[in-house]
Amino acid sequence: MEKLIIGSHVSFKKQDQLLGSVIEAISYGSNAFMIYTGAPQNTARSPIDKDYTLKGYKLMEEHNIDINNVVVHAPYIVNLAGSGANYNFAIMFLKEEIKRVEELGITKLVLHPGSHVKLTREEGINNIINALNIIVDGNSKVDILLETMAGKGTEIGITFEEIKTIIDGVKYNEHIKVCLDTCHINDAGYLISDFDNVLKEFDKVIGLPKLACIHINDSINEIGAKKDRHANFGKGTLGFDNLINVIYHKHLKDVPKILETPYVTVNDESKERLYPPYKFEIEMIKNRVENPNLIEDIRAYYKKF
Ligand code: FE
Ligand code: FE
Ligand code: ZN
Repeated sequence: MEKLIIGSHVSFKKQDQLLGSVIEAISYGSNAFMIYTGAPQNTARSPIDKDYTLKGYKLMEEHNIDINNVVVHAPYIVNLAGSGANYNFAIMFLKEEIKRVEELGITKLVLHPGSHVKLTREEGINNIINALNIIVDGNSKVDILLETMAGKGTEIGITFEEIKTIIDGVKYNEHIKVCLDTCHINDAGYLISDFDNVLKEFDKVIGLPKLACIHINDSINEIGAKKDRHANFGKGTLGFDNLINVIYHKHLKDVPKILETPYVTVNDESKERLYPPYKFEIEMIKNRVENPNLIEDIRAYYKKF
């Protein structure tokens, strides 16, 4: 059987932490997953509970989930390209986040490089480099994975060259790697239907060994739209075949693929509920056959509960 490392974003809740994340990942048929150590939108974090971590590890072992295929995503609001008090806070927060990631025994921390807001692009990039030089001291096993961004607002990291400039500025840059997001690179202007060429470009500019995680998302928008709106697998402008081609690419076998596709809305009794699509998307990915009724099937499945 062909090797496939696939999973999704799963929750990491106060009441059972890593154990709960593993249970959720298994329920989708995953052998990889991604967590935020708290809410993605804020920086409130509780201490890591060792008991849940150990129980999570035991369950991962039983289900053949390799810890190298588990990643943490830093909160969106942490901005290393900014200035003033926010900038100092972001540096302090990420130092603490790395400690939490270490306590979980995880080695991959995905980070949005940042947005330069009112500064120039160059100033923003320099701020990111300076911050990473404070955060990454060479003593930790945790790698920071800079995510390729869509180009919304003043986001930095929208070309491979920009990511490379940041990597080159960091002293211990053996600990700086990259997370490629399929929706983001489409929105930034890379042609996913010619993915061989995209990878060739990545290899030329950054080097393929730096690619440590792939976010698998379809996009609502056309190439170059600079929007960043994710669509369900096969339901956007990238389409089923192009995403399957990324997932099964021969050069990316060892790289964990993580779905961040949107939850599906279900309206019952005047209430709108949201349900995760991952179990169904992962099934399609494993079968390599598109399910034209994906959304309907997800709704039907969760309505039973
Ligand atoms: Fe992200
Ligand atoms: Fe992403
Ligand atoms: Zn995104």
